[in-house]
Amino acid sequence: MANPLYDELFGKHAGKSSVFLQLADGQTISHGDFLNRSAQFAHAITQLGLAAGDRLAVQIEKSPDALAVYCACVQSGVIFLPLNTAYTPSEVEYFIVNSGAKLVLCDQAKQQALQPFVHRLGAEIHALNADGSGSFADHAADKPTKFDTAERDIDDLAAFLYTSGTTGQSKGAMLTQGNLLSNAQVLTQYWRFTASDTLLHALPIFHTHGLFVATNVSLIAGGRMLFLPKFDMDAIIELLPMATTLMGVPTFYTRLLNDPRFTRELVGHMRLFVSGSAPLLAETHIQFEERTGHRILERYGMTETNMNTSNPYDGERRAGTVGFPLPGTELKITDPSTGSTLPEGEIGIIEVRGPNVFTGYWQMPEKTAEELRHDGFFITGDLGMIDGDGYVHIVGRNKDLIISGGLNIYPKEIELVLDAQDGVLESAVIGAPHPDFGETPVGIIVAQQNTEPDLVAIKADLENALARFKQPQKLIVLDELPRNTMGKVQKKALRERFADLFS
Ligand code: AMP
Repeated sequence: MANPLYDELFGKHAGKSSVFLQLADGQTISHGDFLNRSAQFAHAITQLGLAAGDRLAVQIEKSPDALAVYCACVQSGVIFLPLNTAYTPSEVEYFIVNSGAKLVLCDQAKQQALQPFVHRLGAEIHALNADGSGSFADHAADKPTKFDTAERDIDDLAAFLYTSGTTGQSKGAMLTQGNLLSNAQVLTQYWRFTASDTLLHALPIFHTHGLFVATNVSLIAGGRMLFLPKFDMDAIIELLPMATTLMGVPTFYTRLLNDPRFTRELVGHMRLFVSGSAPLLAETHIQFEERTGHRILERYGMTETNMNTSNPYDGERRAGTVGFPLPGTELKITDPSTGSTLPEGEIGIIEVRGPNVFTGYWQMPEKTAEELRHDGFFITGDLGMIDGDGYVHIVGRNKDLIISGGLNIYPKEIELVLDAQDGVLESAVIGAPHPDFGETPVGIIVAQQNTEPDLVAIKADLENALARFKQPQKLIVLDELPRNTMGKVQKKALRERFADLFS
């Protein structure tokens, strides 16, 4: 029976003794053993009453078993719903209620807090701990290691990934088998992944980056993953010599550059470094090349669309850009107010269409209609432009756009000037409410180690570089910028913190 996602990602590895996962302690798990375990999980899931199309929510620490639950869901046709491990029980309640999950798997330590409302909703809850123990594992232990794969179609739903909800209520993006499979196939080819690759995996697996990009690509290629619970500098330095590729968020790269053990010799053998999920500073890109001789390949994607663009494997990987639309994905820049396509070089909203784009938000038809056009283009909410060579540049989120006295200000333009200043490590520009202008830009700066930026000199430079209405009315120095687990700067938190500056 056909199940395209299972067959392409998992099924083809049945019985193979090739290593799929290697853990920090050196322990290895073969493709075949991984599939046996996930088949037992698929039996456990169906015996607990779930059938194709039902939702299974997981809030478990990153582990081989957490990944086996994903595989078991694909094999049994159950919709996989991974949740950020940092969510509190009351946050988790929202996702369970919203998705109507029938089964919740969590770490034993969280079970007591989640149990009351899971039961109130008529759902089941079981424990699955990172070490492979827990009531769910017990349930699966005596099950057969073969499972009759559920028949699924390319348009059937495979996963719900909830958006991070940094700008509003979190929404369940419904992703089909075809969304995940097409993107994984394209990326595997575009980035030349093969069975000889060993991917150093230090990303979380509740997010599209670590779950779908890294894992699905490795599975299609038949390669190995060095599977770390999280980004741990000592472990990364120790394991890099065994890896051929690393996928990371920009903070991985800035942290690596801050460690003297991260040398050209350490990574001379590496094939590829990929960055995404948040903007990589052009300076980080350049410093990385100076240090290692490698050019980081930056790509752009999101929960709703998987990956949309990538810098080229062979051609120029251009710092400060996210490259070209991936094969099969169309990308255009549109006027935010009229929706009409803008010419090359003009900034507008990025819209994308392709087999990678989700089918809508779960039980939110109005939100879906607002963001997904009838012709299939998804209004990403990111602002960007396409330059004369076809490279896509991201300027920021539309919601971060500052409108001061009726004039549009793109924070990125100011951030680039701030970042280039002596003593400035990084910056974030936000709009703060202002009695005269509605909003006005405020520059938030993080200083380089052991330096104190000269704010007077920076102000003078801003006056030279930017039109008056774009010049930040205040510069504030912070020790660090607030970031989420994927390294994204939380501008909403900054706006809240500095909401009263001019009142
Ligand atoms: P998420 O849905 O959590 O993956 O967040 C997706 C958002 O992250 C996108 O809409 C972009 O705003 C941002 N993003 C992802 N990759 C990049 C990148 N390479 N450069 C800049 N922003 C990015």
